[in-house]
Amino acid sequence: MKAIDKSDFSEFVDNLIEDDDREVVGVQKKDSKFAFDPLYESDDLRLDYDTTILPPKKYFMPQRETLIEYNIEKGETTPVNRVVPRIILGVHPYDLVAIGQMDKVFEDTHEDPYYLEKRRQSVLVGVNMENVSDKSFASTMGTATIDSGYDLMLTDIGDRYAIEVGSSKGSSLLEQAGAAVDDAKPEEIRKVKQFKEDLPEKFRSDPEFDPFELPSLLKEYYDNDEFWEENSEDCLSCGTCNLVCPTCYCFDVKDVNDISLSEGERMRTWDGCMLEEFAEVAGDENFREEKAARYRHRYMRKGRYMYNRFGDIACVGCGRCSEQCLPDIADPVDIFNQMKEGTS
Ligand code: SF4
Ligand code: SF4
Repeated sequence: MKAIDKSDFSEFVDNLIEDDDREVVGVQKKDSKFAFDPLYESDDLRLDYDTTILPPKKYFMPQRETLIEYNIEKGETTPVNRVVPRIILGVHPYDLVAIGQMDKVFEDTHEDPYYLEKRRQSVLVGVNMENVSDKSFASTMGTATIDSGYDLMLTDIGDRYAIEVGSSKGSSLLEQAGAAVDDAKPEEIRKVKQFKEDLPEKFRSDPEFDPFELPSLLKEYYDNDEFWEENSEDCLSCGTCNLVCPTCYCFDVKDVNDISLSEGERMRTWDGCMLEEFAEVAGDENFREEKAARYRHRYMRKGRYMYNRFGDIACVGCGRCSEQCLPDIADPVDIFNQMKEGTS
């Protein structure tokens, strides 16, 4: 384990920002919330945030991106992959777990060069959570602390940051800090260990389920129409719970022609299974016309379908969905607790 004085860390970040090779993004305060955004000075970086509005997935899978440019008159198509090499500062462990899950998805079957190239050209600097959002249940989901999935991982230990190195990318980045980095002292290593041991107390204590019983609980509840109808009654089908989720990756692909109709772009944009038109197909059919069916699908995907395919529970407990759902019906803890209680 390494360590660096906080003042030296700020200087290190300022040097990275000045270096034009890579964009540096980090968590910053935006009004009363926090967000990942390009960083122009180290003073704006907030490593003590509780949660961000959107997860860092937006850097690997932007809300809108061009996949192909085409010219119909000339019969030409040009693949486009706009990759910005990036250093992302201050990623919480649950978001790093989610990125690891997304990597598996985009590497599976047909590798997705748009996502994967952006991932390859990014450096992830994590930070252990000092403050925890009221809605987060990451400790229940086993994502409050991690041993891998980052290039560097910081822990605030007072006047210094302890730094765990997780990859060769991380160690090359750290070399740029030069002599400011030294080996962590034994008491600093102990502080990090203690910090991680104390962390679970900061999270919600109301989850009553074990994440690995979710696949069987969800299987049991699949045909319980009344349960899904009652819980989804107030759903606005706005899709917010999908869009803010670090493990949701669905997208739509559309051709957007320019006004001359001779040129255009094939775009991909975020999509979400809670939106009414998500499962609409040709012939005016919709496989999930009822909001209860969409609501059920979202939970099945989080706790069962992804587990069956990749062995992962696709909820990392960040709490963003419940924080941002207007009618307050998107809290996974509420649904999973109800299931657990109903089967005990
Ligand atoms: S559960 Fe909430 S956030 Fe999700 S679609 Fe329904 S209203 Fe929107
Ligand atoms: S389902 Fe909700 S709590 Fe779970 S990872 Fe997605 S946004 Fe976070």
